[in-house]
Amino acid sequence: MAQDTLFSKIVRGEIPADIVHQDDLVTAFRDIRPLAPTHILVVPNQVIPTLADASASDEAVLGRMLRVAADLAAAEGVAEDGYRVMINCRDHGGQEVYHLHLHLLGGRPLGPMTRR
Ligand code: AMP
Repeated sequence: MAQDTLFSKIVRGEIPADIVHQDDLVTAFRDIRPLAPTHILVVPNQVIPTLADASASDEAVLGRMLRVAADLAAAEGVAEDGYRVMINCRDHGGQEVYHLHLHLLGGRPLGPMTRR
């Protein structure tokens, strides 16, 4: 299948994941190696490899990813204390899976954004 990825298989239910949200545009599931008490990935159902590949026609899905992240943060009970939403892009961004995904991290103080 063209542009098939690990996360596409999760979206289609072909490999197991702890899915916490799915709608017509995006799927959210818990990260398998959590870096914080709440660590959820929000991905577009259709593959966009990286944020750098997103185009104007992807604006609806990009907006949905953020909206769903905010809703999930509230549902997880981390919104009041605060949380971090992060997208790694390509090599220098540390992206491992080339299917666009947003990390929702919360449940503890997360410290500075990156190392100096
Ligand atoms: P990134 O480095 O931004 O590409 O993040 C990829 C993330 O995907 C990492 O935090 C991994 O722990 C996570 N991950 C990899 N495989 C799985 C999986 N099968 N289910 C859930 N999360 C995964």
